[in-house]
Amino acid sequence: MASRNGQFDFDFIIIGSGFGGSVSAHRLTEKGYRVAVMEMGRRWNPTDLPRTSWFIHRWFWRPKLGLRGFFNMRLFRHVTIFHGCAVGGGSITYAATLLPPPEKVWESGSWSGLADWKTEMPRHFDTASGMLGILENKILGPADRLLQKTAADCGCGHTFYPTRVGIFQPRDGEPGSQTFPDPFFGGEGPERTTCTSCGGCIMGCRYGAKNTLDLNYLFLAEKRGAQVFPETKVVNVRPLNGASDGSSGYEVHTVRSTAWLRRQPRRFTCRAVVFSASSLGTMELLFHLKENGSLPAISAQLGKQVRTNSESIIGARVPGCREDLSQGIAIGSGIYLDENTHIEAVRYPSGSDTMGFLTTFLTDGRPGSQRIVLWLKNVLASLLLHPIKTLRLVRPWGWAREAVILLCMQALDEQIEMSWRRPWFWPFKKFLVSSGDKVPTYIPKANEFAKKFAQVAGGAAMSTLPEILFDVPGTAHCIGGCVIADSPARGVVDDHHRVFGYKNMFICDGSVVAANLGVNPSLTITALAERAMSFIPPAVETAVADRAAD
Ligand SMILES: Cc1cc2nc3c(=O)[nH]c(=O)nc-3n(C[C@H](O)[C@H](O)[C@H](O)COP(=O)(O)OP(=O)(O)OC[C@H]3O[C@@H](n4cnc5c(N)ncnc54)[C@H](O)[C@@H]3O)c2cc1C
Repeated sequence: MASRNGQFDFDFIIIGSGFGGSVSAHRLTEKGYRVAVMEMGRRWNPTDLPRTSWFIHRWFWRPKLGLRGFFNMRLFRHVTIFHGCAVGGGSITYAATLLPPPEKVWESGSWSGLADWKTEMPRHFDTASGMLGILENKILGPADRLLQKTAADCGCGHTFYPTRVGIFQPRDGEPGSQTFPDPFFGGEGPERTTCTSCGGCIMGCRYGAKNTLDLNYLFLAEKRGAQVFPETKVVNVRPLNGASDGSSGYEVHTVRSTAWLRRQPRRFTCRAVVFSASSLGTMELLFHLKENGSLPAISAQLGKQVRTNSESIIGARVPGCREDLSQGIAIGSGIYLDENTHIEAVRYPSGSDTMGFLTTFLTDGRPGSQRIVLWLKNVLASLLLHPIKTLRLVRPWGWAREAVILLCMQALDEQIEMSWRRPWFWPFKKFLVSSGDKVPTYIPKANEFAKKFAQVAGGAAMSTLPEILFDVPGTAHCIGGCVIADSPARGVVDDHHRVFGYKNMFICDGSVVAANLGVNPSLTITALAERAMSFIPPAVETAVADRAAD
């Protein structure tokens, strides 16, 4: 029989072009494989990105409503999940803060003991850091200075740190917006422009200063021949030729994600598949494929151990603030309230005020009806006593210039579960549904810190409305659901990211993470994908092994 290489459209098909997917594409093309990347979202150029979040059709992703942006928000009973959707995955909308997790994360969760993580991971973190161009943030804005001062007043000033960011910053004393030939990959990468401190990272960098995946891993992969299919959603993955374990390859079915009617179904074949559709996307696709009989042997642990990084989003607003609080880098600095409680100062660029609709007066108290009553009381009292100040606090206009979000993350092991069910309100179709114990939305010491921050800034502390009204925390850091473990009884993939029950099938994205990291997860996802790809032999060795098997 001829080499199996020639039998398939591609050697590897990668589903999703985020951190896990882009690392996989780059390393696999480097090893000589023919690679395709299927990406549901659009390809963006800096000049196409929306100026502010008011351009909702170019910011938000809901293609059936004509919204074809790069940012998505999904509501569940236990959590609101914010995530990215674009060529480059979450990197187009992310704040580019790239922090390593504390070492203790390797000792908890189902991955503990499966590898010598503490010895192995540092070199993969180093590789990932170099590829993502991580440097300490030198652009501290007014929001960072407020964070530093508040931390000092609260007795934790020594924990203040400028974040490590994947942003091309100007050299000391030089202005931003200067274009240079590729500064990262010895001339192999694209030219880049230095950061202007506009605080716009989360709305997509319009200057090409943020080190998004389409400017590093994915750029290099495409240069080596990887084919990226944008606006292409994978809807089915099936083993080929009756080999139910996938040892004869897979067929991958796609449709056009942005089309309403003519969805242009296509079929591709490949020797191996990498699921990199993010924690939420991979869970959703695998549940669907397990249910429709395409991949019935996926572990029953699918959807278990989903973690939200135990986050709470609070903040402060300073109506009429003389300084523009949106200036700087989206997440410029952080502090630790204690060993497990980490707070970062986050901002949106001036004019991106729509998130202001989600913020309201900070309200303490046990979640539930008591907290809602307390919130109503606070709103009414404030309206009666300071009507003008109250209206200035709640109007969305000017929100980004006047507000700082305090993102609180805890390295505590809270978990929820996702399953595939028909919800009572829509019995016609199955969806991802969350269950389990609720992750706390009220972190008392974080609220106290927000009050102090508001006092230092001369404004008012803020909570988010879904946390108060529905007791639902928000997170941009959903991880887990297909965790690394020693067996299908405890997880979905092994420590080489191979899916239990199938051959030549891998998962490389946030879904494999098996512990709450307590920091933003993208660097860990990148380093884990680097490690997983390091176990895959070069294409020539695979071809030789295939010939021997034939
Ligand atoms: C506003 C915001 C700010 C953030 N800031 C930070 C930060 O500063 N630092 C940090 O570490 N993290 C940050 N994050 C989180 C970070 O974006 C994610 O942790 C990271 O992108 C996850 O990587 P991933 O490889 O798991 O998947 P992703 O990067 O999410 O990529 C998955 C891709 O798969 C695609 N996909 C899904 N399903 C399919 C399908 N069926 N077919 C084809 N394609 C599919 C999606 O469109 C998506 O592009 C932020 C997130 C948000 C929303």
